[in-house]
Amino acid sequence: MKVCFFSCFDYEAPIIKRWNIDNYDLVILEEQLSIDTVNLAEGSDVVSIFSRDHANAKVLKKISEMGIKCICLRSTGFNNIDLAAATKLNLQVTRVPAYSPEAIAEHAIAMILAISRKLVQANRRVKLKNFSLVGLLGFNLGEKTVGVIGTGKIGSAFIKMLHGFGCKILAYDFEPDLDLATMFDIEYVSLKNIFERADIISLHLPLNDDTYQIINEDGLAIMKNGAIIINTSRGDHIDTKALIKYLANGKISAVGLDVYANEKKYFFKDRSDEAISDLDLVTLLGMDNVLMTAHQAFLTSTALSNIAETTFDNIKNFSEGKANINFLLR
Ligand code: NAD
Repeated sequence: MKVCFFSCFDYEAPIIKRWNIDNYDLVILEEQLSIDTVNLAEGSDVVSIFSRDHANAKVLKKISEMGIKCICLRSTGFNNIDLAAATKLNLQVTRVPAYSPEAIAEHAIAMILAISRKLVQANRRVKLKNFSLVGLLGFNLGEKTVGVIGTGKIGSAFIKMLHGFGCKILAYDFEPDLDLATMFDIEYVSLKNIFERADIISLHLPLNDDTYQIINEDGLAIMKNGAIIINTSRGDHIDTKALIKYLANGKISAVGLDVYANEKKYFFKDRSDEAISDLDLVTLLGMDNVLMTAHQAFLTSTALSNIAETTFDNIKNFSEGKANINFLLR
């Protein structure tokens, strides 16, 4: 059985090889799956992709024509695969439903603390031997109201951490978790109520038609003055142009972004020698109140190990024709 891994970089490839206990024939590629690169999978039985890959209808058709019958996502989110097209082509699709919710939740917490204690600015300063504290006044996280949008696996891990800091926690989810609410003293409220009351808002939702630009001009307009937004979920949850407007006028005091709407074009590669034509990205990168990481929240050794283990389980189940709880499509 030959398995072709797209978007598999140096930080992941050794872990993938280590978990290949059934000795599949592996093709490990850094290339992003697209209509231009899909031919690289020729001769494979399974294709494995990550969130930056483009598994659209055209690409899936090509994959199917090559005789490939299974696509194993190494991600939790699956907005980058056209499931309707995959269904028509009779492709099996699996994912990794949870590899370490804590890894992503910790990154969201790290972003909040980096913003609240101005760590990036402080570190930049001391490296220049400027030991002044002027302009570095922070705030106590435990005194803040945090709005958590999406209280599934990552949102609930994040809530447990926030509870440890002593925050007041508001939450929004169309399926409230009442046990979680009792255990961590959460108040489930409407989205509007979160926008109006939260000092910090963090997103932990799947990307779909209902959650596309869930943060838009209307929501930003009613947020508290000085609110902070953290997005470790998907870039398209936020209307970027509206966000820039509200960052520029100071209503939103800071944003922590691990994801960006147009990230597939830029993230995961060193572009330091390239011009960036996306002017919204250029604007965000130039703003002092924007903390950005390039879709890094998942990047812990625990998470990568869990991703590899589950992905090979999924491949094995496919090869043996067995049922699999990680099916998106069977
Ligand atoms: P999950 O399925 O466990 O939880 C999602 C929650 O969102 C659920 O409780 C669900 O009820 C709620 N929800 C879904 N649609 C909703 C809607 N329209 N309105 C209100 N609530 C809604 O998912 P998870 O494991 O917590 O992951 C959340 C997202 O995080 C993923 O979909 C993915 O996009 C993102 N993610 C990012 C990274 C990263 O590295 N930055 C890594 C993993 C996952």
